Amino acid sequence: MNNIRLHFLVSSDQRALGAMFMRDLKRDLLAFVYPTEAARTFHTFFCPPMRMVGLSSDGQVLFDDIISKWRFIKMPPCRYVLECGPKIDISPFIQTILSVAPDLPQSGAIDPGTGMDSLLFALLSEAVADMRRIRDAHHGRIRTTIQRRKFEAWERGQIVSSAGFLLDFCDSWSIPHNAVRLSHLVLRAEAPYLDELVAASVAGIPWQHEFPHECMRCGKPGSWHPILRPSRNSPVEITWRYQRPENAIPICHHCSETLGLLRDEAMRIDLVWGLWAARFEAFWRWHRAWKNNHLPAWDMAAYPLWPREYGGETWESGSGALQDARPRPPAHVTRNMDHMHALQSSLFSKPFRRRQPGDTHLQKLLNFRSDLAQGETP
Ligand SMILES: [Zn+2]
Repeated sequence: MNNIRLHFLVSSDQRALGAMFMRDLKRDLLAFVYPTEAARTFHTFFCPPMRMVGLSSDGQVLFDDIISKWRFIKMPPCRYVLECGPKIDISPFIQTILSVAPDLPQSGAIDPGTGMDSLLFALLSEAVADMRRIRDAHHGRIRTTIQRRKFEAWERGQIVSSAGFLLDFCDSWSIPHNAVRLSHLVLRAEAPYLDELVAASVAGIPWQHEFPHECMRCGKPGSWHPILRPSRNSPVEITWRYQRPENAIPICHHCSETLGLLRDEAMRIDLVWGLWAARFEAFWRWHRAWKNNHLPAWDMAAYPLWPREYGGETWESGSGALQDARPRPPAHVTRNMDHMHALQSSLFSKPFRRRQPGDTHLQKLLNFRSDLAQGETP
């Protein structure tokens, strides 16, 4: 074992990459040199099984462990962190590291965790985490039946996006073989639904917990109910659209009973149409076309929700474009007199039990804003 290469990682870029993408560390010893002693979190994603050693400024061993699983590791405050193959004896190198390190150019106290490298890392580690979910869900062969049972359409969309992302990177980086293999397999298994799933990864994400829950008629706690239903044999890769907010109204059990909503389809449609106006109209066109087998082929990457011509050019006027696809509460939808009339005449078609609450609750809903409504950037 005298042919070990010692590498010093000094700049934040070098340190952030570290042992990532190295197939093994049989002949390499990576020495991370920091300007100060501070507690740091290391990740071992993409890393082969390795030994991690933390040293104080004067060479005391503060941490020494073999890491064989990908995970985050909280290190005690160390000046030097060494990564190497599990069997490498580091003791001959410690003196060298201690004597050479202070003379190395110091790039300042920038830690991994800032800048592009960490953003890239975050994306890659998320993508690899998705492949691990696939590995855990399937045993060997990837089956659509299992995909359908274990994941929602939007999750499957994120998984195929991750797979594509990893494959884009595997030319320039050495991504772990298993993650690459699973990426190929999952893309092949999902190939028939790829466009729909990628659309769902943006437009089909759950939204109920972000939206107000007050009944639009009485203001008491209610829940969001979908109005139009998919036909019996529609595949789940398509039906995620029926779970969109544009197809739902918030109503409480009591008001639903009072209005006889379950028995009155026209009223249900008046309510959802009045609430979502042009956005429901666009969804309705998609729904009719799907039911009647008239859907045109369209660019789902640019228009995940519905074909461009089904809505206007803005969110308020029913656009199904990518930038308008994230679920948003119904405030600011453009409503005309017909929409308002449909809402009011349905909501007030039956007397209230005690006092008439007026328009307050509906108004509250129509004015509802959340951070989500502001175009949201996390
Ligand atoms: Zn109610």
